[in-house]
Formats: sequence, structure tokens, C-alpha cells
Amino acid sequence: MAMARPEEIGAEAVKELATERSGAPITNILIIIAMQTEAIPLVNKFQLSEDTDQSLFPKGVPWVRYHGTYKDLHVNLIWPGKDLVFGVDSVGTVSASLVTYSSIQALKPDLIINAGTAGGFRAKGACVGDVYLVSDVAFHDRRIPIPVFDMYGIGARQALFTPNIIKELNLKVGKLSTGDSLDMTPQDEASILANDATVKDMEGAAVAYVADLFSVPAIFIKAVTDIVDGEKPTAEEFIKNLLAVTAALDKAVSQVIDFISAKCLSHL
Ligand code: SAH
Repeated sequence: MAMARPEEIGAEAVKELATERSGAPITNILIIIAMQTEAIPLVNKFQLSEDTDQSLFPKGVPWVRYHGTYKDLHVNLIWPGKDLVFGVDSVGTVSASLVTYSSIQALKPDLIINAGTAGGFRAKGACVGDVYLVSDVAFHDRRIPIPVFDMYGIGARQALFTPNIIKELNLKVGKLSTGDSLDMTPQDEASILANDATVKDMEGAAVAYVADLFSVPAIFIKAVTDIVDGEKPTAEEFIKNLLAVTAALDKAVSQVIDFISAKCLSHL
């Protein structure tokens, strides 16, 4: 049997850490962001520096860590980097789960923030540029029509409940549905509707799954780049709005981090 690597810690140990810390001020934040365009403004805002020795992650992976101290917080921002073959951002659930897992192991965060852009549903009140604090996440492209496996596939989870952040920052609140496609098939649409989602992305529920395995609280901040149930083709609308919406996203993430600073989980 292969021996566990010495730096790997078990889910139980991470859970104990989480319980110990729940009444203490949050000091260690892990931000997971899928796209470089979304990440760079925050790297600049918090004056984070890129980790050059790469000792945190296994050799050869494209994952990038930026870190620094902002107010009284250790801030780590992880971006899964550019795909080694195609050179595009490593978006989607597979990369998101891997970096979340590896970062939890290495950094033992008090709180995870998954920030990114998303498609929004006009029928649920979403407009381009809106920033949502997500209440619940689920998958919409894991259809397993066998009892109980169906629910496993949907993988519904709650984000950390943060009534004070919502009140203080005046963010919209809605449910998020995650799948590995930017477009939406009719079957996806039916599942998203069943998930009661207002926003749709390609990472959130995967980050939530891994965070939940290790009992690390997670919040999801998603800014709407495109309207899924509108007339415009999603890919075009996404590219057109990406820069402007990223500015709104980064403003909201900064405000959330300012709010978190010096507080404990139960005060969020
Ligand atoms: N052409 C883009 C592709 C990015 S994929 C590029 O490389 O520049 C889209 C990213 O934005 C994902 O990280 C996803 O989480 C988010 N996203 C934005 N709008 C989305 C939508 N309508 N559906 C799913 N994901 C969306």
C-alpha cells in the first residue's frame, strides 16, 4: 500500500481545526478564481505577490498562487492557470476541485471565497453587472436517474450563511447552478430550473464539494456577464462584458474581505 505523503492531513484533522477556529477571528483566507482576467485586479488591489518557488503545489501543474497580507488577513489567491496544452484558462469543475483540494491541504484556510463570473437568468431578476452572494449551490449536468444517485449527482450544498455580509454590502442573493459547459442544453435548463438557480457557472458546486469534504466554510461571489435566457449568444455577450463586470466583481470581493477582516465566522 502506498504511504500517505507526510504533508497530507486527513479530513478529520482539518475538521478539528475548523471547529477550534470557529469562534476565533478569521485570519487565513483562500480565494479561488478560475480566470486570469478575474484574478489580476484583485492581485493588484491586495498587493499580492506571485509564489515563484512553487513548493506548495506538485511539480508541473499550471496552478498559480498569489499571496500576501491585507489588513490582518493572510490572503491566498489561487488561479488554476493556463491549460498546459491549449494555453487557455483552466476553467471548469475538474481544475476547480483539484486546486481547492490541494490548497486546503497546503494552506488550511479558515474560509474559502470562490469568486467569478456567471450567466444570469432574467426570469429570476438577474441583470448584467449584478453581483450575487450565493445561498446554495448544485450541479445541473450530472444526471443519474437512479434513486439516491440522482441526489448525489445534483450535489446540492449550502454556502456559509452570512446574513451580516448581505445586509451590510447590499448584495443580491441567489442560488447557483454549476456545470462544465458554457452553453445550456434543454436538459441542463430543466435541471437549472429544478435547482431554482439565478446564476450559472462552471466551478462553484465543485469548490463546495471539496470544501465540504474538509468542513471548510465557503462563500461564492458571482457577477453576471451574460443573460442566459436572453436573445444574445452567451459566448459573445460573455466576452463583451467580461472586463466591465470583472470590475464589479472585484469591488464586491474587496468589500467582503474588508468586512471579514477582524471578524469571526459567526459574525459574518
Ligand atoms: N471564452 C472564454 C471562456 C471562459 S468559460 C475565455 O476563455 O475567455 C466561462 C467562465 O466564466 C467560467 O469560469 C464560468 O464559471 C464563468 N461563466 C460566465 N458565464 C457563464 C455561463 N453563462 N455559463 C457558465 N459559466 C459561465
